[in-house]
Amino acid sequence: MRRAVVIGGGVAGIAASIRLAEAGWKPILLETRGKLGGRATSFDDPRSGRVLDNCQHVVMGCCSNIMDLYQRLGVADRIEWHPETWWANPPRRPDRLRASRLPAPGQFAPAFLRMRLLSTDTKILIGQAMLRLIRMGFAGRMDWANRPFSEFLLETGQSEDARRLFWDPVVISACNLPCHEVAGNHAMQVFQESFLAGGWQATMGLATCDLRALYDPAITAVEAAGGVVRLGNSVRGIAFDGIRANGVVTDEGLISAAAIVSTVPPDRLAKLVSSPMKAADPRLVDLHRFEHSPILGVHLFFESPVLVDDVRTYPHLVLPGRATHWFFNKGRDESGLHHIHAVISAAKDWMDLDESAIAARVLEDLHWAMPGSRGLKPVEVRSVKEKRATFRACPGIDSIRPSARPGGFGVPNLFLAGDWCDTGWPATMEGAARSGYEAAAAVTGVGGVIGDVPIGSLARWMGLR
Ligand SMILES: Cc1cc2nc3c(=O)[nH]c(=O)nc-3n(C[C@H](O)[C@H](O)[C@H](O)COP(=O)(O)OP(=O)(O)OC[C@H]3O[C@@H](n4cnc5c(N)ncnc54)[C@H](O)[C@@H]3O)c2cc1C
Repeated sequence: MRRAVVIGGGVAGIAASIRLAEAGWKPILLETRGKLGGRATSFDDPRSGRVLDNCQHVVMGCCSNIMDLYQRLGVADRIEWHPETWWANPPRRPDRLRASRLPAPGQFAPAFLRMRLLSTDTKILIGQAMLRLIRMGFAGRMDWANRPFSEFLLETGQSEDARRLFWDPVVISACNLPCHEVAGNHAMQVFQESFLAGGWQATMGLATCDLRALYDPAITAVEAAGGVVRLGNSVRGIAFDGIRANGVVTDEGLISAAAIVSTVPPDRLAKLVSSPMKAADPRLVDLHRFEHSPILGVHLFFESPVLVDDVRTYPHLVLPGRATHWFFNKGRDESGLHHIHAVISAAKDWMDLDESAIAARVLEDLHWAMPGSRGLKPVEVRSVKEKRATFRACPGIDSIRPSARPGGFGVPNLFLAGDWCDTGWPATMEGAARSGYEAAAAVTGVGGVIGDVPIGSLARWMGLR
């Protein structure tokens, strides 16, 4: 059995290992930490004794590869699908955005037109921009790879309200950068491949278990297929003989392998490769050019329900125009407390705040969104700052994202994966799963990325793809 070392046990490393093993290779998956899942997992909170998610992780119906991975791990049924999103609009009740039976790209039109959050003028402007996104198609968005999305908003005459109440909330949450910083093609992809492509593509999936439970089964899956998973095992360097990568160096010595699949983020990879190796592989030249954008997650525990009004309990809320972007209702925990998870993307301005200042700002937004919660205070708060949450998907970024395959000029048996590689996707679990599948296919010559969910025929006819 040919051996491949997989460095890193995040989504990309798990995806690569599973597919390598299925193709008859023996993957040896090495992960620094004592658990799998990387950035998309949970942690034991020493303060409260709880298992808490690093941050809420959302999948969409269009994420065909991460869902394929969940199927292979036997955990796809732990994703609950939410066909609607709720948009806070106080003092009125939240607006509901839900797909109708109309064919894509018009499936959201009835609910969108009913949204009281947006004026008729704003809706017309947004509709015009959507039409342009359909007409330019998937291929047309690549013309925007070197321009910020805000220029598209300017060109299509979007008003301040349209940007603040609609484009910003979606773009910041999906791309982890505001409209004036994110590459146009990354923001456009969110609308083209979910909202405009079909009702299912825009359906939001949330785990019903803690995130770690999604990835623990990978240990059994990889080992049952003939691979090995070694947790708590850091790779210190990749051994290079001037032409090929011979293996990896760990605290326990050299592990030799026919192929090395690195799935660690670019700054980590930069520490694992020597200068001669960098000189031998053009994919390693730009590692230092990747920058990061932070995300802040805040767990709040209340004695009474807070995402509730006189009509219903909300599973989540989008907060248009506010500093906090989402609230997710995590239900009651074992001690009976009501658990809310707040998410702030592109959270650069929050990184220097202490937990009580963070809690105060988030609480202000909660009381704004749900006026009935005024006066209620959390009995426990736990904030999680992820300073290096995702790479900055700024204009020009795609030109430095490396491919999985060495091509004609790289180290021939070094394969790259991770959400920062050239998957065509933003920094997401879907991008990470795609990159892992692509790297495994490059090693074995079989398999590869799972195809996209087919887009609606009317949307196709109108030019979306
Ligand atoms: C706060 C937050 C919220 C997010 N929300 C979402 C969301 O809602 N939806 C979504 O799709 N995505 C979301 N993401 C992004 C998503 O988590 C990532 O895109 C994805 O998990 C990246 O997976 P990866 O395998 O590429 O990298 P990582 O998860 O970073 O995995 C790399 C692994 O390598 C290990 N490692 C590093 N160095 C070494 C070494 N020397 N030796 C051995 N192992 C090593 C690390 O410990 C890690 O486990 C979010 C990310 C964050 C941080």
